[in-house]
Amino acid sequence: MYRDDTCAVCGDSLPPDHFYCRQHAATVDERLHEIGELLGRALEDLPRLATLLGEVAQETWDYLAEGEADAPEWPPVPPVELRAHADEVDVDVDTEPGRVRLSVMAGLPPLLAALAAGLDAADVGRLARACSAAQGTNATH
Ligand SMILES: [Zn+2]
Repeated sequence: MYRDDTCAVCGDSLPPDHFYCRQHAATVDERLHEIGELLGRALEDLPRLATLLGEVAQETWDYLAEGEADAPEWPPVPPVELRAHADEVDVDVDTEPGRVRLSVMAGLPPLLAALAAGLDAADVGRLARACSAAQGTNATH
């Protein structure tokens, strides 16, 4: 049976039953090691980041935003768009009125790519820079 195999990295056409071109076959270990390091970091960093973001008062976000030339609405709300099969998406009524619970089964590459694109579109990098440079935000009221 004819199969059009392509390299998982560069997409070059390959002979049947090959997964990578010669160049990218030589670096599979390196890519897996980098994935291990980055995923491990993400598993530690994401829950902590979510907790910290939830511990900032709106007034503090406003104070940071006032330091920007265009006074953006902070914290930004990243638009996350994810392509999924209709069978893999479920929308349910949440216990909190007016809210729904969205469940999506997605692979790691599309899930993380959608998150990264949303963070980029919302210019979260600028918020990160403002947070890093923040001073005088210790007000208690
Ligand atoms: Zn390749």
